Amino acid sequence: MAIAKENQIESYSFELGPIRPPSEAYSLLLRTTRNCPWNRCKFCSLYKGAKFELKSVEDIKQEIRTTRLIQDEIKEMAWKAGYGGSVREMARVLLGDPPNEAIFNVALWLYAGGENVFLQDSNTLIMKTSGLVEVIRFLKQTLPSIKRVTSYARSKTVNKKTLEELVALHQAGLSRLHIGLESGYDPVLEYMDKGATAADHITAGKKVVASGISLSEYVILGLGGKKMWREHAMATAEALSQINPDFIRVRTLTVKPGMPLYDEVENGSFLRASDEEIIEEEKLLIEHLDCHSYYVSDHITNLLQEIEGQLPQDKEKMLATIQRFQALSPEERANFRVGRRLGVYNRLDDLQNGHCRRIVEQALPKFQKDSGEADEEKIYALMKRFI
Ligand code: SF4
Repeated sequence: MAIAKENQIESYSFELGPIRPPSEAYSLLLRTTRNCPWNRCKFCSLYKGAKFELKSVEDIKQEIRTTRLIQDEIKEMAWKAGYGGSVREMARVLLGDPPNEAIFNVALWLYAGGENVFLQDSNTLIMKTSGLVEVIRFLKQTLPSIKRVTSYARSKTVNKKTLEELVALHQAGLSRLHIGLESGYDPVLEYMDKGATAADHITAGKKVVASGISLSEYVILGLGGKKMWREHAMATAEALSQINPDFIRVRTLTVKPGMPLYDEVENGSFLRASDEEIIEEEKLLIEHLDCHSYYVSDHITNLLQEIEGQLPQDKEKMLATIQRFQALSPEERANFRVGRRLGVYNRLDDLQNGHCRRIVEQALPKFQKDSGEADEEKIYALMKRFI
């Protein structure tokens, strides 16, 4: 872009990892490690074939300094462009034509207020505690607008830290950890090669809560398949109830080539649960949750993304959404599922939206068998586009 070219900014860049949680969509991304040190979960293809690497504290600090330089350049550009120093306005302009991905990330972060940072990749807690404390302190000194610092962690790694180390990280500024619990049922965890048992998850989760670090636990709906869905739901509810995390975030199993689980689906050893079975599983999970967590269905793969609320007081409201879906006729449920997977519907109320409905009704025959029944494989193929 013309404005960027007249400035130093386009010469700045830093390394970015591949993912962050949906709740960190507007966060500054700081890659503190590369890839996954476990890399064996059967339902995950993200880092397969990529070697895990630690980065030196000095390399990470250098990327923080670069972020500061980009931020300062954007401030200066805002003055030069006549925005009266409005960084937000300049960030908005840069988002339209960013010189590179790193500048896009900084502009997005500044546009959203410049307060949140997510430390990438999959298990930042594997860094030495002293090094991670140094990084977080340096981050907050160099970018003083930062209020929240979050990261992914594995339960096994949490369990290798003492409570005192977690408290030290919290005091340095680590606000939240996102942990993939996935299931609280040991046979599912073992089958999926998660590398942690329910007891590991519970010990780790309780330790994070005790340290004062906010905790998000992630659950994969459908991970028990057709065979273990009931046990998966019940044991997951039990584990979460014991941990009592700040957030429970659910996403739906989606199997794609590149995941070890893909071959097991293809050869018939893992039977995927259908959308409707997964909704029944989610109902059982919510019914048995006995904790004070905030439940969020913030992933595009979830059929009923509108299920959200504070436990225990919103439990009935959340279950009512499931009952409303289950009370629809089979034709209406199929219509909703296709509309959701096409990205036309967001919530059940959208079934009453004439415009959305017409789009779905036109597409519907492509997702039906000759008998008029829903074609599960074709609907599922739509869902795979989302991950
Ligand atoms: S620990 Fe996380 S990133 Fe690593 S393989 Fe498992 S799901 Fe994937």
